[in-house]
Amino acid sequence: MSETMGTAVVTGASSGIGAVYADRLAERGYDLVLIARNADKLAHVAERIRAKTSSKVDVMSADLADAADLAQVEAFLRDTPDVTLLVNNAGLGGALKLVNSDVDQMTSLISLNVTALTRLTYAVVPQFIARGTGTIINIASIVAINPEALNGVYGGSKAFVLAFSQNLQHELAGTGVTVQVVLPGATATDFWAIAGRPLEQMPAAMVMRSEDLVEAALIGLDRGEFATIPSLQDGELFDAYEAARRAMIGKLSTATPAPRYRDVG
Ligand code: NAP
Repeated sequence: MSETMGTAVVTGASSGIGAVYADRLAERGYDLVLIARNADKLAHVAERIRAKTSSKVDVMSADLADAADLAQVEAFLRDTPDVTLLVNNAGLGGALKLVNSDVDQMTSLISLNVTALTRLTYAVVPQFIARGTGTIINIASIVAINPEALNGVYGGSKAFVLAFSQNLQHELAGTGVTVQVVLPGATATDFWAIAGRPLEQMPAAMVMRSEDLVEAALIGLDRGEFATIPSLQDGELFDAYEAARRAMIGKLSTATPAPRYRDVG
């Protein structure tokens, strides 16, 4: 283990955003455990990183939508004290409307985007709290706040990631554990082809390189930012959105219905 940084576990590290996180975290001095299903692609990413850094890079081939594989990764996280950072990045997208999409595939999407992310977080948080340090980076999406954009189950899964992260940040305040949620806009990865909407159909001005996305997100992390939206040019818009949400806190639960719901008939 690197003396200072420890081990970063990156899910979905065989391609796209996860592979870039692996690369940049190794450059920052982390040892790595890279997780995804495709062992060949993982080995390729690991080899590339070993060739240019002194980081120790291990790979773990696992289908995180499979309960048995997921349990093995959870056990690894619980039993490995070197782990200092978890990037919950593995995720499936969906671009088809409800009537054109298959509910079994959407259920698998929930298993990966919601259940796996949740269980891996549960596996790692207790030891982070016990050590008074650790970082969790959850990869959500802009569809968390724009669920009309793509498939609703995908949007809902990422709204879960945002809400879960908001609660985590709240619950873990003062423990020394850092939580960041990243909301990428359209990013140039295999995601789009897998989700059923080729990237070529997107205006180029709306699509970010995965390298730019990850580097911006790490700058957000370095600055102690909780929610990072690299493509949102005017950050004050999100601050206003968050301020409107916070303004309702303390006013959302009352014994009587609001006057607008009183029967005046
Ligand atoms: P990607 O290139 O398709 O990468 C997805 C990664 O997840 C791959 O490494 C894939 O590897 C892994 N994965 C998929 N199913 C898995 C499973 N069942 N078990 C374990 N690993 C699995 O797409 P990406 O764009 O980098 O996506 C990364 C994250 O960014 C996702 O959470 C996605 O929702 C989010 N995001 C992407 C965009 C975008 O425009 N690209 C925008 C917003 C958010 P294997 O196939 O080898 O398992």
